[in-house]
Amino acid sequence: MWAELLPVGRSSASGGYRRYAWSGADADCRTWFQEQAGARGLAHEVDRNGNQWAWLGDPAAGNAVVTGSHLDSVPDGGAFDGPLGVVSAFAALDELRGRGARFTRPLGIVNFGDEEGARFGLACVGSRLTAGALTVEQAHRLTDGDGITLPRAMELAGYDPDTLGADPERLARIGAFVELHVEQGRALDLSGDRIGIASAIWPHGRWRFDFRGEANHAGTTRLADRHDPMLSYAETVLAARREAELAGAVATFGKIGVEPNGVNAIPSLVRGWLDSRAADQASLDTVVTGIEQAARAYAAAHGVDLDIVRESFTPVVEFDHALRDELARILGTRTELKVPVLGTGAGHDAGILSDRIPTAMLFVRNPTGVSHSPAEYAAEDDCLAGVNALADVLEGLACT
Ligand SMILES: [Zn+2]
Repeated sequence: MWAELLPVGRSSASGGYRRYAWSGADADCRTWFQEQAGARGLAHEVDRNGNQWAWLGDPAAGNAVVTGSHLDSVPDGGAFDGPLGVVSAFAALDELRGRGARFTRPLGIVNFGDEEGARFGLACVGSRLTAGALTVEQAHRLTDGDGITLPRAMELAGYDPDTLGADPERLARIGAFVELHVEQGRALDLSGDRIGIASAIWPHGRWRFDFRGEANHAGTTRLADRHDPMLSYAETVLAARREAELAGAVATFGKIGVEPNGVNAIPSLVRGWLDSRAADQASLDTVVTGIEQAARAYAAAHGVDLDIVRESFTPVVEFDHALRDELARILGTRTELKVPVLGTGAGHDAGILSDRIPTAMLFVRNPTGVSHSPAEYAAEDDCLAGVNALADVLEGLACT
């Protein structure tokens, strides 16, 4: 399976993947998924939001156990983010059939559409629509860089956009969703474990800091006479690092806009975007409040005005505690491996669906922690340990 997927949507220039929603590469991934379903005698269907499902047993029976992930990628993404969860799902089913397991619940394997949001700028579109977390009107307004709307892109790919919308009946048939994913950090590498169970997705947000000073000549304006917003911005970047370290969180200024943006001009405006995430709301509040207070003090010291705007915020996502404990119990009895429980700073379809159905995640070690890059990696032994762990979980949940 891995060898078949590897060339799909891979850029020869970067070595990274460009599998954007409703593109040719996406279609090739979807064909591959359908073939894998067919080869295993699974019933294949595409739901009203373009998510792909493969079923063993009749989902109408209810209380289904579903596993899977996504096959799309960020621009020049790695091979593992998404596909590892789908490949492992099919491989876990093969493993269970090899064990002679008998299923007592329907088993579904899913490929959620447009998880990365690389084309339309919003992540997890397929699962958001299904969960009713994205309205049809909002979905219709999504437009890519070439001016093509989401409905038009779906139409061009041969799908019917008129069916988009919340799908509560489908979700009502699912008793548990378990997503396996490559880890996007180094927690497992540092603890020396192959597999982990997710506890929660960290709350995270984006804040825009506008430092307004006074443009002037870089050669003739005395230092004492300047109102230079770059100075207070620079001090704020350092404060963000300090506050994040103190709270065991992360804080990043990764995007900046400068006006007039001239080499020989003192800036009139420096606009910086802060991305901050922490294990819990209280820690995140502490970090962001600390950064804001520091920024205001620095701005005042330099005679610079400051506006801070929160542009987006996602609260903590706690995965279902009962399902998480059940995964830990199953893996505790079936594998020799120690399986730590860890949080993550990255969003996933399982997080979107956690509002509606019990969801859980398994992480597979990523030795460098690098993700959303061609350098993303998981060793074959660790991937196989992931398949076995997923098979153990599915057997524990869905088999006699
Ligand atoms: Zn992913």
